[in-house]
Amino acid sequence: MPPPAVTPLDIDAVRSQALVCTRCTLAQGRTQVVWAAGNLDSEVLFIGEAPGFHEDKEGVPFVGAAGKLLDTLMGEVGLDRSKVAIVNVLKCRPPGNRDPLPDEIESCRPYLEAQLEHMRPAVIVTLGNFATRFMLEQQIGITRARGQRFSKRGATVIPTFHPAAALRGGKFNGVSTIDAMRQDFGLVRRTLDERARPPEPQAPVVEAPGAAEPSEQLGLF
Ligand code: URA
Repeated sequence: MPPPAVTPLDIDAVRSQALVCTRCTLAQGRTQVVWAAGNLDSEVLFIGEAPGFHEDKEGVPFVGAAGKLLDTLMGEVGLDRSKVAIVNVLKCRPPGNRDPLPDEIESCRPYLEAQLEHMRPAVIVTLGNFATRFMLEQQIGITRARGQRFSKRGATVIPTFHPAAALRGGKFNGVSTIDAMRQDFGLVRRTLDERARPPEPQAPVVEAPGAAEPSEQLGLF
């Protein structure tokens, strides 16, 4: 029997469901669901925490002060919000911008999972604790996770601070939070450049006279 056909994920259908979602109580307080910004076919995905006041009003992620800083940091490494994808762990604003609750993250999980499945991004930048823990599947803190690259679900995950933390000021190991973010965005740039670079030329393989072809040696055919 042939294997069952795998139905490709219809991201527009998932978006339509999300826009009328009532899976958790955040539905009651929202102005609208904040689905995504940018290009969901990009190889780069930024994941934030949850919409704030301005995002809830406009229906677009990262349009407030934190978003302006995110745009600046992206611009410094040659990225543009219209060419990458930007989403949040939660698609609805928590009251008073409080932290997402575990059951809200679980209720909203299918939407971010669908976005990941649709995009299969090469590089994922997680902004702050909630996105980082979602992607790394462990209760790691952002100060410990940042500055490193992790391999998850076929993507390189690069955790960094949430831009709102940089706006609050503060230092991390003697470096300002914003400079730490600049280092992390530099790592994003390097990761993308490494992907774009053609592979190093290999030294030609010299066949020993009379040597068998590798396929014959391995008996593959
Ligand atoms: N903070 C987030 O995490 N996401 C937004 O969209 C805006 C602010």
